[in-house]
Amino acid sequence: MPAAFLSTGVPRRSRRAGPVKLRDVQSVLELARSSGASDRHLRPLWMQWLRGERLQIGERGPTPPKKLAELLPQLQERLDALAKVRSEHPSSDGSTRLLVELPDGATVESVLLAREALCISTQVGCAVGCRFCKTGEGGLLRQLSTAEMLTQVALARARAKVRRIVLMGMGEPAHNLENVLEALTWLGGPGELAHKQLVFSTVGDPAVFERLLAHSVRPALALSLHTTDATLRAELLPRAPKIEPADLLRAACDYADAVTWPLQVQWTLLEGVNDSDVEVERLAELLRGRRAMLNLIPWNQVEGFDFRRPDPLRARDMVRALKAAGVFATIRRSGGQDVEGACGQLRARSLPAGRRTRAKSSETNLS
Ligand code: SF4
Repeated sequence: MPAAFLSTGVPRRSRRAGPVKLRDVQSVLELARSSGASDRHLRPLWMQWLRGERLQIGERGPTPPKKLAELLPQLQERLDALAKVRSEHPSSDGSTRLLVELPDGATVESVLLAREALCISTQVGCAVGCRFCKTGEGGLLRQLSTAEMLTQVALARARAKVRRIVLMGMGEPAHNLENVLEALTWLGGPGELAHKQLVFSTVGDPAVFERLLAHSVRPALALSLHTTDATLRAELLPRAPKIEPADLLRAACDYADAVTWPLQVQWTLLEGVNDSDVEVERLAELLRGRRAMLNLIPWNQVEGFDFRRPDPLRARDMVRALKAAGVFATIRRSGGQDVEGACGQLRARSLPAGRRTRAKSSETNLS
């Protein structure tokens, strides 16, 4: 259990609109102390919240003070006010996009995926500026707090079972590292998720891999590589760290070896840009024999972008060639393609017309 979990004396949440901080959540549950509840009584409440359950007095555990039961509706009401699902968008592929509204009016997307997985956002917008990404187009608007990441989990779990969480929504987790590490601590603790069920998705930075290795919860890693060509990568991901892709891939594979969870290499497939035989050959050289798998993600067409989604046959040929070369490769599709499939499209669409230009932003591949 994170130490901060049980701290006392946390100020009540102010009515000022702004990011929901972890202390805001703590202050809600700290109210329970006025009933005489102790840390042992608070712990189950935290776990219930992170499971997306309504607060209740459990049948097991220490007998709580009588007044705690009377307080629960009030606590629940305050937790419910931390964030809400503004709209839900089920897709024909079984995934469901959630547009989550935060108290300051900011919105982010979460996606309930197949196989009890959930994709959450770590920032409002993103500073990396990937040329093919709707989110990157608008830049970074603000960081998400730890509580805002956890709240996405609680809201999603209230709707469906979630046993795997990927930090692959809007934002670059490495650019909000302290809050993300804190969220991982909670998810791997009271959130009851195994480390390998948490996936940190990043454009990559060996210094960040070191931080993850030293952290108490060491997640699986997904590296958004997209090309093996350094010049092309600098064009496609203009504000990603300028590291030779081969070196980056090596560092990410070393991390995978250290934690023993396979590296997922993410490759948004763009016709005529990164679908060449040369890329396939370089990938085969770099990935053969490594603890890694390549996910080819045919790009989701986004209005106003010049890229093209490749022919499905080309993606299949690439997978075949990579497999023949000894690389585990697969084709993935973004969840919810029939409901504003590129991450952030849904959010951009929800903004008032005048704000769309700036926040024309927010799309990650949610791959
Ligand atoms: S693809 Fe990911 S890293 Fe790139 S701009 Fe979009 S959200 Fe940021």
